[in-house]
Amino acid sequence: MFLKGKTAVISGSTSGIGLAYAKALAAEGAAIVLNGFGDADAIEANRAALEQASGTHALYDPADMTQPEQIAAMIDRAAAETGSVDIVINNAGIQHVAPITEFPVEKWDAIIAINLSSAWHMMRAAIPHMRKQGWGRIITTASAHSLVASPNKSAYVAAKHGVVGITKTVALEVATDGITANCISPGYVWTPLVENQIPDTMKARGLTREQVIDDVLLKAQPTKEFVTIEQVAALALFLCRDEAKSITGANLSVDGGWTAQ
Ligand code: NAD
Repeated sequence: MFLKGKTAVISGSTSGIGLAYAKALAAEGAAIVLNGFGDADAIEANRAALEQASGTHALYDPADMTQPEQIAAMIDRAAAETGSVDIVINNAGIQHVAPITEFPVEKWDAIIAINLSSAWHMMRAAIPHMRKQGWGRIITTASAHSLVASPNKSAYVAAKHGVVGITKTVALEVATDGITANCISPGYVWTPLVENQIPDTMKARGLTREQVIDDVLLKAQPTKEFVTIEQVAALALFLCRDEAKSITGANLSVDGGWTAQ
């Protein structure tokens, strides 16, 4: 259990990739701050299971990633209740699929707030804690869309390119503090976020559900397989190891070869 005594705050960890990060880190003994929306009973069941797996704290914090003061309060609470903030994973994210001329302004604002600005606010609040202990890991779930674009995803692609820029900058700022900052860029991972965009893509492109899965989603992925949440979480776990201390400012693809094309 190489993460015993360490605390990980993971935004958007009530579902999908974020929950897989939480399980992987808890299995190595990390205290977890679970965050995100969802059914209260399901969240409590996940929280209790994480506590059981790690043998230490697992907290749930409902901070809304569109609200900077709630983000700062979550980081401070994590430090106060578990004793430290060692690992921050910026993972909360939403998607909206529409051509730019029909893209609702409030969807642009929400995607930029949740997928981009929240990462900046999390890092800003967490780095002073990490500096104090001389160790930290900042991991951000970017996307293959941090490297390449797809039509009808202007806000998402902008936000994902943006988190890579923040990560590179912060990696330079904390390089001598024992802190690393990296992005993980998955291709298509089968989670609610992907499942929920299928109806809009069907509408936007006039396709059937099967056509969206085979001809839009998996078309981009040479392996013709969805990435799994466990594969993404395994890379995050490696980035937390001391052997990964020289990996910083990187954007690491887990995309079945998508962006090699
Ligand atoms: P998901 O929908 O399963 O999880 C998203 C999480 O974010 C949930 O816990 C949700 O409650 C939380 N969230 C949403 N809005 C929030 C808010 N305002 N405040 C706090 N939490 C909020 O989706 P996922 O696929 O697991 O996505 C996780 C991350 O991975 C996202 O950043 C996404 O862009 C990225 N990603 C996903 C894929 C994929 O194919 N699924 C590919 C590349 C990158």
